[in-house]
Amino acid sequence: MNPGISGCDRAAAMRYFDHNATHPVTPAAREAYLHVVDEFWHNPSAAYRAAARVRCLLDEAREQLAEWLNRRPDEVIFTSGATESNNAVFASVGTRSDDGVQVLVSTVEHPSIIEAARHWACGGVRFLNPESVGVIDPELLRKHLREQPVRLVSIQAANNETGVIQPVRGLAEVCREFGVAFHCDAVQWAGKMPLAELQHCDAVTLSAHKFGGPRGAGVLVASRALDIAFMKGGGQEGERRSGTENVAAIAGMMAALEPHHNPEPPADRFAMRKEFIEHMQTVFGEGFRLVGSADGAGMLWNTVGFCMSPHRATRWVTRLEREGFLVGTGSACSAGKSTRHPSLEAVGIDDAAAERFLRVSSGWHTSADDWRELARAFKRASDALDRDVSADADNSPVVIIPEE
Ligand code: PMP
Repeated sequence: MNPGISGCDRAAAMRYFDHNATHPVTPAAREAYLHVVDEFWHNPSAAYRAAARVRCLLDEAREQLAEWLNRRPDEVIFTSGATESNNAVFASVGTRSDDGVQVLVSTVEHPSIIEAARHWACGGVRFLNPESVGVIDPELLRKHLREQPVRLVSIQAANNETGVIQPVRGLAEVCREFGVAFHCDAVQWAGKMPLAELQHCDAVTLSAHKFGGPRGAGVLVASRALDIAFMKGGGQEGERRSGTENVAAIAGMMAALEPHHNPEPPADRFAMRKEFIEHMQTVFGEGFRLVGSADGAGMLWNTVGFCMSPHRATRWVTRLEREGFLVGTGSACSAGKSTRHPSLEAVGIDDAAAERFLRVSSGWHTSADDWRELARAFKRASDALDRDVSADADNSPVVIIPEE
């Protein structure tokens, strides 16, 4: 193994199309990580000057994130990742009192929201179903909040499986009208879309490994009024999250996010996505069923979710890997488990069709040529899978039906 080759280089060689599951560590993030591991390894809470240098790095990262999100630095809490950030929200807000006041989450949230809400919220959880295109209209939220007060609303910025974007600003404004705290899981948003658009939320979750930082680093930006207190111990992060900060991973996270914290709408990326969809529609016709819009309106520029007929998603994945392409089958967290897919149900895909659901998700380094080659690989994989099926049919044992 060549230690000088970054994950991004390897991903490019492999034609990696599963960035929503995890993004390879970018060369800049790798460099920043290794630099801190080698040069700034002291415990940031120690009293000597060497530790103060490490604290300085942490403070700079905190100030930078606060600036990008238009928040105050003391609202930025470093965590181990999005699952921890999301649990911290519900553990802090949901357990405060058992007065029966509930939290409201959408049905298309990641399990780290839904399960955390179920586990921590004393008053119980209410679920909000999106409209048929997977979007939660702020009017629908207003109607729910009028019917019954809740303590907290949590709705994601963009869906990991379908790439559908939520109207975060409108949802946050409705919550403000009702004096309800609004949390947004922005894991799939950060690094692809402008962070400043999340500034109206009371709390925001980010995860480094989804945009090219190392695993084991995440962020919860939360207004002080939410009074976050999750991990108890040495009192780091202003008593809100104990545990020695993973400064190297945080430095890597910042280096990965820096070039992409405020991207312009990338017309070229939408064009690549659209060309791929059109290619698939031409080749497979009815056999390719797209989730969401072909031109990318209201969608992440990097994600295409679709159902393929007639083969199961896992068979496509295996075949495409042989062709040198890695694609996803919906949430990697639940891969291998037979779970229901609420985000797919929300866009009209039932459990049977979900077995045939595939997700391809690109990165900034993915080229138009990679997308074209992916569409060609789908055709070769389809031919091979059809051949496998007819070979299976030819080899199937002869069943002798006994005479009556
Ligand atoms: N939220 C969303 C929307 C996600 O896509 C994921 C990862 N699949 C998570 C939360 C959990 O992130 P982490 O791996 O950092 O815990």
